[in-house]
Amino acid sequence: MKVIRSVKEMTATSRELRNAGKITALVPTMGYFHEGHLSLMDKARELADKVIVSLFVNPIQFGPTEDLATYPRDEKRDLSLAQMRGVDYMFIPTAGEMYGSGFQTSIEVSQLSKGLCGASRPGHFRGVATVVAKLFNITRPHKAIFGQKDFQQLLVIKRMVKDLNMDVEIISHPIVREPDGLAMSSRNTYLSFEERKSALSLHSALKLAEHMIESGQNNSGIVAGKIEEHIEAHPHTKIDYVFIGDPDTLEPVNEIKAPVVIALAVFVGSTRLIDNAVVYP
Ligand code: AMP
Repeated sequence: MKVIRSVKEMTATSRELRNAGKITALVPTMGYFHEGHLSLMDKARELADKVIVSLFVNPIQFGPTEDLATYPRDEKRDLSLAQMRGVDYMFIPTAGEMYGSGFQTSIEVSQLSKGLCGASRPGHFRGVATVVAKLFNITRPHKAIFGQKDFQQLLVIKRMVKDLNMDVEIISHPIVREPDGLAMSSRNTYLSFEERKSALSLHSALKLAEHMIESGQNNSGIVAGKIEEHIEAHPHTKIDYVFIGDPDTLEPVNEIKAPVVIALAVFVGSTRLIDNAVVYP
């Protein structure tokens, strides 16, 4: 596995790979790998001749009061895990390498970025779309793999690729969970023992909602109310949002007649966790 830190070298390498006729897949990450990240790499390995993983904690997608400075990092461990999963190239630029002086261009996917995490984290999806577009330009992948854990992010990226005619196939991968149901996240490491117990309420609330909808409940207000009640019964929790809506447009839905996405963001202690499920009535 080759580690590349400069944009120039990564650009030259991707050009060589393209010229040699190799099919490449990119897995963009912020590192501190868990099985969720690694399953995306496995998927990339299946679909491509060469797998590129980017590891970059992207400063422009963090708000001023968010956890950029404390975001968990362990490059050495990440490198050995990626190597074991058969990754060919790790692209690890610095912030200075990605955003040189005078940087001023950004991409905004206006409608899809508005609600949910976009409402709680102004500018977040502008930062995400911009860095992903840069990573696509630098690595020129045929395919790029994203997790459904970040459901809104996946829609934003798909929309950007379509709207800007980017020549890359976006592939989504299901949420990978701990055996007890907690969605894997680098941020789970922030949770205390007690907080982790309460964090399980996100998944159990989704299960509860799924059961209600599958048993015929079609009023999204009632389902959302039950979710809130369930989560709030757990200590250390503070709901950021409970969203039930169209899984393609992210428009809210009142009467559930077609598949909906239920998306949650909840502070457990000071850690903000997200989870979601697509549910069929
Ligand atoms: P991150 O490093 O958190 O920015 O995540 C990098 C990629 O891994 C994104 O496409 C995420 O959606 C995906 N990812 C993170 N956690 C999970 C998970 N538990 N299951 C599946 N994919 C995930």
